[in-house]
Amino acid sequence: MRTYTSLLFTLLLSLGLVACSPSKNNQTIDLTKAKWLDLSHSYNESTLYWPNNVKGFEHTEEFKGQTPGNFFYSSYTISTPEHGGTHLDAPIHFAEKGWTVDQVPLDSLTGYAVVINVSAKTQNNPDYLISPQDLIDWEKANGAIPKGSIVLFNTGYAKHYPKRKEYFGTDKKGLEAIPELHFPGISAQASNWLVENRLPKAVGIDTASIDYGQSKDFQTHRILLGNNISGFENLTNLDALPLTGAYIVALPMKIAGGSGGPLRIVAAVRQSD
Ligand SMILES: [Zn+2]
Repeated sequence: MRTYTSLLFTLLLSLGLVACSPSKNNQTIDLTKAKWLDLSHSYNESTLYWPNNVKGFEHTEEFKGQTPGNFFYSSYTISTPEHGGTHLDAPIHFAEKGWTVDQVPLDSLTGYAVVINVSAKTQNNPDYLISPQDLIDWEKANGAIPKGSIVLFNTGYAKHYPKRKEYFGTDKKGLEAIPELHFPGISAQASNWLVENRLPKAVGIDTASIDYGQSKDFQTHRILLGNNISGFENLTNLDALPLTGAYIVALPMKIAGGSGGPLRIVAAVRQSD
């Protein structure tokens, strides 16, 4: 027999107001009552790009002021490499047959998140590699990561953004900076563990790359993107999220054929979270 609650839930669901979770607790969020949190950095002259990018974010004024018609008008041109600031790595970034930005299904950019906090481990180790044990330990405390989750890693590095030296481990620019990059990332073993056991929709991190700074072969990119699991990089505000139950909406600029692009990513959480 159906209870009033389940009938109400069915009604809300049919109205599209309740986001359904695959989690064991069957957690749901009423999006009309949720608190929205911003997980994106703003784009400006301080936006961080990989050190060998020649250009950064450019926002040039075309017109700003009073027009001859006596009304105010402003308009700018933007220019940016795809991979900088808070951005999406579409699978084709490292997988020849992977989805381009415009092909990534909206379903894989929206859904419930789990947040794995490894910031204590990165404090004295900028080369920290997130391991399968970190995932197993998280699951011991919080339950299994539901299949199809958006897995977010909080390394504590967002607090360094946009200070280049602290964030990248070097303030050098150009190719000579690459060997000096030091920041945490996800190990190949942890990536394989996720693909084989939990198959997330997407994986995000609050550093410049899902691979750690010292990576030479970008195995984590190749493993995750090779399985059409997109990456979200340079996230912020992960401290504000509950470990489970936040509902993510991550919408990149819809660049046809793009390998990545600027990402506005937000999270809906319960008012009480
Ligand atoms: Zn990228």
